Amino acid sequence: MALEKCLICGFPSEHTGREDYDCFRCGKIRIGSMAAILFEQLSLSPRERANMSGALRENPQPVMIPGDVERLRNTPTPSVGQRADKLLFFLQKQWPTAGAVLDIQPGIVGDLFRQNCDPVRLTTNTKSYRLQASICGVAWAESDVEVGFILNDYLSETKEFLVPFGNRTWGFKISPKGWDYLEHGSPNVESTKVLIAGRFTPELLKFYTDVIGKTVEACGYEPIIVGEPESLEPITDQIIASIRKSRFVVSDLTKQSNGAYFEGGFAKGLGLEVIWTCLEEEVAQRKVHFDVRGLPILPWKEGEENDFCKRLQNRIEANFGKGKFKRVQSAPQ
Ligand SMILES: [Zn+2]
Repeated sequence: MALEKCLICGFPSEHTGREDYDCFRCGKIRIGSMAAILFEQLSLSPRERANMSGALRENPQPVMIPGDVERLRNTPTPSVGQRADKLLFFLQKQWPTAGAVLDIQPGIVGDLFRQNCDPVRLTTNTKSYRLQASICGVAWAESDVEVGFILNDYLSETKEFLVPFGNRTWGFKISPKGWDYLEHGSPNVESTKVLIAGRFTPELLKFYTDVIGKTVEACGYEPIIVGEPESLEPITDQIIASIRKSRFVVSDLTKQSNGAYFEGGFAKGLGLEVIWTCLEEEVAQRKVHFDVRGLPILPWKEGEENDFCKRLQNRIEANFGKGKFKRVQSAPQ
């Protein structure tokens, strides 16, 4: 098995086919020859490498072409909390037994980031190196310092989801509080459904479908729009059921729909995140209810939908990462 440096992250990678690579950190990826040349010429920052690697790991893609390179390079960084969540869930999958000591090795993680792995140990102990590299990829970490911060400062000291075990650096077990969180605390992390709430006038319904819905879908989530005639706005069982299954909710407060407030609040109560949006004019006129005024509302303006799409996409990808939903297209005739 010949190992080389991954064109994207610099970690060890197997070149398994003409365009196929099996990177210890990015996972199985496919890079077309033109894109490969482009990657070789780029000088990527550790942050860019981490974001590209994290995004690829979560969204295996078809063969990369040059056009994908810049898009991938602009992947926004998920929040620290989001990355800590991803890592905690990964650790649980690796060590599913309660009380198990997590085998995280700072020495190997450091060597991987410094691209300074002992070639003999790397080939005799591949499994272990792969696991440690996966930890770096899952956490979208740009350095061993960042992995350490997420483990020690965030997951252990602040959240208390990990407890130190023994004297080893990065020796941890998942704490009872951590297990409780994994089992109950963050609903629907595997879901790709997203309920879009709002007032369903014909114009707004078009905005929810064509602008919000399409952006949600571009981020890899399935938009669910359960529209009701605006005068009735009953909170139907179907809406409640859809919220219960959602990864998060986008609630548009334009025209001050009671339904949008209720559905957003209901989602919050379940522990889900809500992205609040509203027509800019109404935010400026302070029409938004005072209970949500303090929350970050994404304003939108007619005629500037493209700009809104970008901001919404950044918000979604930074908070939830790329989803895995892809609409099945019927083949063109
Ligand atoms: Zn890689």
